Amino acid sequence: MLKHMSGTFKEKSRFSLAFRSTEKSSLLPFSSLVWPGFCTNPVSYIASHNTTIVQCHGRRRIYGRGSRAEINCLKRGIVTNRQHPPPPHPLFHCNEVRPGVFWIEEKYFDSWNRANVFFLVGSDRDLLTDTGVGIFNLREFLHAKGLRHRETMKPMDVVLTHIHFDHSGGVHHFQDEGKIHERVEIKIHELEAKHLSHPLKTASWVMNHEVWPKPSPQWNAQSYKVQGVANVSPLQDGKTIHLGDKTFQVLHVPGHSPGSIALFDENHGILLTGDTLYQTDQELIDWYPGSSCKRLEHSLFRLHELIPSVDLILPGHNAVLYKRDIMLQCIDRHLSRRSWSRTFAKTMISKPRAIALLGANHYVVALPEALREMLQT
Ligand SMILES: [Zn+2]
Ligand SMILES: [Zn+2]
Repeated sequence: MLKHMSGTFKEKSRFSLAFRSTEKSSLLPFSSLVWPGFCTNPVSYIASHNTTIVQCHGRRRIYGRGSRAEINCLKRGIVTNRQHPPPPHPLFHCNEVRPGVFWIEEKYFDSWNRANVFFLVGSDRDLLTDTGVGIFNLREFLHAKGLRHRETMKPMDVVLTHIHFDHSGGVHHFQDEGKIHERVEIKIHELEAKHLSHPLKTASWVMNHEVWPKPSPQWNAQSYKVQGVANVSPLQDGKTIHLGDKTFQVLHVPGHSPGSIALFDENHGILLTGDTLYQTDQELIDWYPGSSCKRLEHSLFRLHELIPSVDLILPGHNAVLYKRDIMLQCIDRHLSRRSWSRTFAKTMISKPRAIALLGANHYVVALPEALREMLQT
């Protein structure tokens, strides 16, 4: 199998790609198959295991499933990753927001539901919070990026801030045939530990157009659902997660979902908030199946009290927050809109509508995209 490799071709470079079938050992000139072999823009490529992805003109193509790829440069002066930093990964963004704190996003999931994943390096254990939708393998990305090493494998906690599919969908990549990989412990609040594969509680709804590239030509968004895992450790309020040099306290902050949690490292001023708090022009979501307007308000008051000790908020969606006044604004924006009539409308209209749409889409028939947009209002 081909080892991971990546690089960038210079502008106006001529190149060819060839696949050598692992079965027949025949070398087929790639350019004569589908690729013109000439590009006026920089071309980046990444070949990993049995898939090759080529980016050019902002479009991505996947070739070589089941084949061994070979990339030949036809012009002198081609730049390789020995001289330049490697090109961006075609499937995931990764940004180090503070030493040892990595913010990861699933680039291939182009949706308002795209969630943040955070990987924190500890001296004794690593911590991964949330796992994205998981259509591509996050665990493999952590290895490809060099964040996890198979040889010197540290234990790792995979903690889900809550049950929703955009946060829990990739959790199955950390378990295979009932076995947990790499000394991994999977943790979620006890109220949600038994419901990880429940389509309504996970609010699963992925659209075909949101996923590019697709993992295979046959892949269909309608078949997407969160795959539950065995051996999940339940969390309760007040529990601690020790990474050696960092210690996170578990805060049960229900409201967005019954088992939503935040993680707080007081010594380093880091607060992971999941979907309980993030920056948005709209209101925070407290009308999904299992949501509660009142509980979310209480949870936001609880987080509000912590803000003087917080330097960095790692939220479930949108940007990482560094400034306390912005953090407070995010909380105040939601709380200031509270009213009896809004709570009534969300409880009596928005929430039953979300339950009906999610339930009908999963149990009855695939609904058109326009109807899902109603979930946002
Ligand atoms: Zn959520
Ligand atoms: Zn979310």
